[in-house]
Amino acid sequence: MKVITPKITMIELIDSHCHLDFAEFDHDRNAVVAAAKQAGVSAFVVPGISRQQWPRLLELAQQHAGWHLAFGLHPYFIAQHVPADLMHLELLLRQNPDAAVGEIGLDATCAQPALQLNLLRAQLNLAAELQRPVILHHRKTLDTLLAEVKVIGKVQGLTGIVHAFSGSSEQAQAWADIGFKLGVGGVITYPRANKTRTAISQAPLTSLVLETDSPDMPLMGFQGQRNEPSRVRIVFDALCELREESPAEIATQLLINTQSVFPKVSI
Ligand SMILES: [Zn+2]
Repeated sequence: MKVITPKITMIELIDSHCHLDFAEFDHDRNAVVAAAKQAGVSAFVVPGISRQQWPRLLELAQQHAGWHLAFGLHPYFIAQHVPADLMHLELLLRQNPDAAVGEIGLDATCAQPALQLNLLRAQLNLAAELQRPVILHHRKTLDTLLAEVKVIGKVQGLTGIVHAFSGSSEQAQAWADIGFKLGVGGVITYPRANKTRTAISQAPLTSLVLETDSPDMPLMGFQGQRNEPSRVRIVFDALCELREESPAEIATQLLINTQSVFPKVSI
């Protein structure tokens, strides 16, 4: 009797933005990582937020396979940062040649916009000088950020990810035009997020990467709960519903996109 074995193509995905080092995961980090791997999510980009947090991030990354790091000074923690942090950031980046610069950016809901801008420019310049990708945080600042990235990128070249993209189709295209990737997360699981869903459905497939921003940004149906990297799979399914390409084609392209920013990431 001829046994027909079904062709099972396992979808392998990457969470290009999750804070697995945060205290929210201290009691069950190994289980969270195992659950993600079970769901086909085997690589994680874990960004930095402040000088105080970098050492622990490094330490935890050494204990887990599949973690890829970024170091940066997040605008949300603007009150914590001091000028000397930039020097330490440069040192850390030189010691970790595979690390990206992030997350960095501008947040209109946070204090000290002028200081945020100075810090952003310094970190963009550092990324350009060291030829590292950047992970950009934005809140009501997408166009200002684009202008800043264009100025520095034009002279020195810059690549990276717009984390938690939530703009219009025009904004998505503008970022894609300069080679940046758009971080697609839980936002698209909410039907009311019309603008973002339309933008993501129309954006070039070559410009998309997946993320959760765990433990933040819960998906629809998980409001009030801690977010986890395993749910990248749910974001992927939501993305497939928005796109015309086949799931296999989307998964393959997402991997290529992520690796074009983080060449050392593998699944
Ligand atoms: Zn983040």
